[in-house]
Amino acid sequence: MKILVCVKQVPDTNEVKIDPVKGTLIREGVPSILNPDDANALEAALAIKDNDPNVKVSVLTMGPPQSCEMLRECLSMGADDAYLLSDRAFGGADTWSTSNTLAAGIRKIGDLDIIFAGRQAIDGDTAQVGPQTAQRLDIPVVTYVQQVQVIGNKVVVQRQMEDGYELIEVQTPCLLTAVKELNEPRFMSIYDIVDACGKEITVWGHEDIKLSPENCGLKASPTQVFRSFTPPTKGKGEMLNGTAGEMSKSLVSKLKGLHVI
Ligand SMILES: Cc1cc2nc3c(=O)[nH]c(=O)nc-3n(C[C@H](O)[C@H](O)[C@H](O)COP(=O)(O)OP(=O)(O)OC[C@H]3O[C@@H](n4cnc5c(N)ncnc54)[C@H](O)[C@@H]3O)c2cc1C
Repeated sequence: MKILVCVKQVPDTNEVKIDPVKGTLIREGVPSILNPDDANALEAALAIKDNDPNVKVSVLTMGPPQSCEMLRECLSMGADDAYLLSDRAFGGADTWSTSNTLAAGIRKIGDLDIIFAGRQAIDGDTAQVGPQTAQRLDIPVVTYVQQVQVIGNKVVVQRQMEDGYELIEVQTPCLLTAVKELNEPRFMSIYDIVDACGKEITVWGHEDIKLSPENCGLKASPTQVFRSFTPPTKGKGEMLNGTAGEMSKSLVSKLKGLHVI
């Protein structure tokens, strides 16, 4: 069985701060990390491999050359090989264009049984790339996967819902998007980190995956970010004083005044 995990390098949004004077985002010194949902997706693939040594796990990303650091982290966790789609022509891609490029890379890798992606990337936050990639590859997709079991050429998954889950059986090849409840990603060992340093990462540009520059990146993006801005900070909080009864009365009247209740 061949499994591919789509992984994205993202800024650690927990570390992004807002400049209180300029009101802009402070990006300097913000570390880049493996997108958290993608770590869960990779862990799921590696757990399948743990149970069957014939399983091969590859990772794929589209991004700048520095994404290699994140791919090495994936190799250190246990992935067998890594692919980087990197080309100036891929820059400025929206989700439509990103999924088109990823699908072209996946077609070139070929012969895959399960493709995993994260549910959502913490920077773009759209949750569109997984389903769009599946659609371009014309394969079934199950999103919000919180449990996976491989049975022959079928996969049985639990799909997370707000008030429970759906149990879905899906034929391979298929694409699954992982949520954090799926598992606890493993740590890398020193031995695996050293081993991963020696592994080669396959780098492909637009010609390698047979995409013309008009069909990738900004040029192929139906949407363009027109303006981005920092949301206004919330107003100052107000403390209520008095007995519990007085404070509740005052709170209710304030909420009524704001038409909240
Ligand atoms: C309207 C719009 C315009 C944009 N314009 C620009 C722009 O001009 N310049 C720019 O740099 N960005 C732009 N972006 C951001 C860019 O589209 C996203 O970073 C990218 O398309 C992935 O979408 P996302 O982060 O929402 O991922 P999601 O859909 O939330 O990601 C879901 C999963 O898909 C997989 N995935 C996503 N991206 C990748 C990837 N690159 N490689 C491998 N796997 C991946 C991961 O498994 C991830 O967990 C734009 C986004 C939007 C919505």
